[in-house]
Amino acid sequence: MRPEVLNPIFAESQTLDGVGPKLAKPLEKLGLTRVKDVAYHLPERFVTRRAIANLDEGAEGEQVIIALTPTEHRASRNQRGPYRVLAQDDIGNICALTYFGRASYTAKKTLPVGEKRWVAGRLDRYGDMLQIVHPDHVEDNSAAHMGRLVEPVYALSEGLTQPKVAGLVAQSLDRLPDLPEWIEPGQFEREGWPAWRDAIKLAHQSANEKARDRLAYDELLANSLALLLVKAEGRRRKGQALIGDRSLRDRLQLPFEMTGAQKRSVAEIEGDMQQEAPMLRLLQGDVGAGKTVVALEAMLIAVEAGKQAALLAPTEILARQHYETLSKMAAPTGAEIALLTGRAKGREREGLLMGLVNGEIDILVGTHAIFQDSVTYHDLGLVVIDEQHRFGVQQRLALAGKGRRAPHTLAMTATPIPRSLTLAQYGEMDVSRLDELPPGRQAIDTRVVAQERLEDVVAGVERHLATGQQAYWVCPMVRDSEVADIAAAEARYASLKERFGDDVVLVHGQLRPEVKDANMERFASGGAKLLIATTVIEVGVDVPSATLMVIEQAERFGLAQLHQLRGRVGRGSEKSVCLLLRGGELSETGKKRLALMRETQDGFRIAEEDLELRGGGELLGTRQSGEAAFRIANLDQVQKLLPAAHADARLLIERDGGLTSPRGEAARILLYLFERDWGVQLLRGG
Ligand code: ADP
Ligand code: MG
Repeated sequence: MRPEVLNPIFAESQTLDGVGPKLAKPLEKLGLTRVKDVAYHLPERFVTRRAIANLDEGAEGEQVIIALTPTEHRASRNQRGPYRVLAQDDIGNICALTYFGRASYTAKKTLPVGEKRWVAGRLDRYGDMLQIVHPDHVEDNSAAHMGRLVEPVYALSEGLTQPKVAGLVAQSLDRLPDLPEWIEPGQFEREGWPAWRDAIKLAHQSANEKARDRLAYDELLANSLALLLVKAEGRRRKGQALIGDRSLRDRLQLPFEMTGAQKRSVAEIEGDMQQEAPMLRLLQGDVGAGKTVVALEAMLIAVEAGKQAALLAPTEILARQHYETLSKMAAPTGAEIALLTGRAKGREREGLLMGLVNGEIDILVGTHAIFQDSVTYHDLGLVVIDEQHRFGVQQRLALAGKGRRAPHTLAMTATPIPRSLTLAQYGEMDVSRLDELPPGRQAIDTRVVAQERLEDVVAGVERHLATGQQAYWVCPMVRDSEVADIAAAEARYASLKERFGDDVVLVHGQLRPEVKDANMERFASGGAKLLIATTVIEVGVDVPSATLMVIEQAERFGLAQLHQLRGRVGRGSEKSVCLLLRGGELSETGKKRLALMRETQDGFRIAEEDLELRGGGELLGTRQSGEAAFRIANLDQVQKLLPAAHADARLLIERDGGLTSPRGEAARILLYLFERDWGVQLLRGG
């Protein structure tokens, strides 16, 4: 049971004043479903604004507050286009206030023509006019701004504004309870950190490093504690030793020789599976490194030992693709492979479930549907998880419950993670690395091109498509507002569609999954030639004839992400090209980073050097990486604080494995706070 002291902040966000069903949705999009999530919605940064008397005083790119009087509302001719309000300063200069998507409703309400308003936001140029995109504040008197020229800037979603979020945060802070200290007293003293409640409050007021560090440390400590509890539990839980006799593997007729790295990984996996303790291993390797065949070998070992194996894919399309590849490769072995996704219904599904229970099916491939309660295995010996971003320990525990004994687990990822961060991300797992690409791969010709040369790039895409090949076009997802990002992608889609007609499809996170799947499938089957996406990582489907990738504003992506995106081309025998469009002027580091992309295709090297280059100073934001393990701690803090947090956790568990001392009790609260409570539940089971 969750400690009662946490109940007020685990209440739903809807219990905050002013949050009804209408706001619940945008809050949920940001993951702010409970009061504590709102309190932990820390500012992305702080802006210092300057009040200016007229537009002449403001500089481009500057954060300002200015009195403006709306003169005209201009809806865009096409529905997706921006909504603009033209407004005048005291000396007659005009500025456009620009809104995308549904935000235009706000504009209609808050900016009546002829009435003076105080507007805060970033002054930008739009053609030969000044503009402010999605002003942070629009207020009808100047007093509202006095004395708060340093302001937090929060991540938003459509339907939310900065003042709205700030108001909700303030309410949630009022509800924070006083909690006992869980940090080791010596550490706490040495660092001079504020207590938990103070730290959260301070972190919303200004860029307070001590407060941010303390909150990050909490998260790292919670994570380490939970992982260590799981590890301790794993040692107690029995798995089963699986020894394959090679009977199936010997019948494989692979069209290639496995690389040294593949052979080594298989040997490591086989060694683990021969132990009674359940395997918990991560297979890391670039896109195209050949993880599938390693997974197949592992699954065949389980089948040789008389057990079943299951492979979990993150999407339906990927599940199907895996099913087809594996069926083909494994055909000579006679192993029975089946596919189960959420789509299987009625008789078909029943038949499948029967086959699983009675053991006719040796290998099951599917989406998370394969671990529903209604799915029962005859004797599950191995679980393989492919590219499950956010595949957490919790899920691993759910899987562990599926076998008579805990099954062995192999997770696979193409995300290059520097060695120093593997511990944070995958804590308790052993790691095998495919650090060698299969021979004969064509290098991807990577070039950096200025965004101003867009017309040339589009012409290049046209020539490319004319040869019958396909291409990806990636739009960045990095601004404050997801809505603006998607509007930009939609706008690009609209303009490219004008040029290329039905050959173009669009995929982004706001589309319904069926639509996304259908669009993706049209591209994979060659029906569409050009795929526009906000990020194609999540649709990591193999399309060998897609040999060109354009990435807009490439400097805005993390290198690991660029690398993964790029890995989508170069899958066939044709030569592939990747164009990195550079949006603005590059900083010194920005230049080096893009140069590194040109120079190497080694994901591990890119990950390590990127970390060096950035010095960990940049946020490993969830939106950028798509894969961040932590919500509060950034990359820098992970590196700086994780070793101490890990040692702290280990010591606590050594001394007080049941978490029953006063500090142990406080640590339990911490685990619940960060929803690592499965760690606590294990304690009870043990
Ligand atoms: P990953 O899942 O790691 O991205 P895949 O398993 O899909 O990569 O492999 C990519 C391609 O490389 C597949 O077509 C696969 O058959 C092929 N492949 C895998 N291993 C080798 C190898 N040792 N030599 C040649 N080709 C290989
Ligand atoms: Mg793969």
